[in-house]
Amino acid sequence: MAAVERVGSSGWWILGEEVAQFEREFAERVGVACCVGFGNCLDATEMALRACGLEAGERVVTTPLTAFATVLAIVRAGGIPCFVDVDRHGLIDLALVEEQAQLRGDLRYLVPVHLYGYPLEAAALRRLAERGVTIVEDAAQAVGTSDAGRAAGATGRVGVTSFYPTKALGALGDGGAAFTDDEQIATRLRSLRDYGQVGKYEHHELGCNSRLDEFHAAILRTAILPRFDAWTERRREIAARYRKELDGAHVACVEPPGRGARSEHIFPVRVREGSRQALLDALRAQGVGAAVHYPSLCSEQVALEGVPHECLTPLDQAADLAAHEVSLPVHALLSDDEVSRIIESVHAFQP
Ligand SMILES: *Cc1c(COP(=O)(O)O)cnc(C)c1O
Repeated sequence: MAAVERVGSSGWWILGEEVAQFEREFAERVGVACCVGFGNCLDATEMALRACGLEAGERVVTTPLTAFATVLAIVRAGGIPCFVDVDRHGLIDLALVEEQAQLRGDLRYLVPVHLYGYPLEAAALRRLAERGVTIVEDAAQAVGTSDAGRAAGATGRVGVTSFYPTKALGALGDGGAAFTDDEQIATRLRSLRDYGQVGKYEHHELGCNSRLDEFHAAILRTAILPRFDAWTERRREIAARYRKELDGAHVACVEPPGRGARSEHIFPVRVREGSRQALLDALRAQGVGAAVHYPSLCSEQVALEGVPHECLTPLDQAADLAAHEVSLPVHALLSDDEVSRIIESVHAFQP
């Protein structure tokens, strides 16, 4: 409320000092030189691809198991989404991506997703970058995630994230950001989010209108960021309890990769064939807000019918997770008693 009061009475609500300060703090936290606030992650991803030189008709490798926004951004930037299967952690299989990149020379862009807040392997991303693949990392679920000392999103040419209220670093409305070490790309992103202006009334390219508000920047910087590390620790505590105490239940935790640090944005478990709806119903009857991430593959969405896209590999692992995943609540403000109740409810479930 203090942040709202401060911005409200300042008389300056778009692209002012609050956004600039938040951008500086966020860039520092992620460990890159520049951050550019956007209205949401979808726009940040589309503009990041454009700022990296993506041209119409160019192929962009990505995962079929993600928020549709990841794929929509690729299509809106003029790219052709090319889907590669995920590994047993639910993350795009970077070994398959390397194999595909070796087989064909036309895979020059990659949008990998740090799904569930699980870290992609930074070394594998670096190898792909060295091979000439331009990477825009979708870290919408991965503020607080890192591998080999590198924050999620800081290894690729650009990282993008979302401040949608349900994300770990959530605002009180829509928001997003792109971050990068490349000053030229950051300058281009600043122009693209603001109608393609380079100076007042001087438009050098066709941008969009997607600016992080002063209100959200102030709330994020002064109300959320100071609590963020403690909240991330709390999510890790809850996730550790699930991994330990769900042993013997009729669900299996989706195994996290054995590297780096996780933000535990989503806690995914896998249920037996045909029992997902029953588990969701049983949990919801106990007042447990379980969800599914994601019930279908992006490659199968109706919106992609007639839109050029390719499946570079079979998508069996992704389809398997889409059919069997359930997300348990892992919010930082859950009490120990609530976590115990959730664990008991899962144990009580008989498929
Ligand atoms: C939430 C999310 C997005 C979209 O973010 P918006 O800010 O709503 O546009 C993109 N990718 C992933 C992985 C997400 O979880």
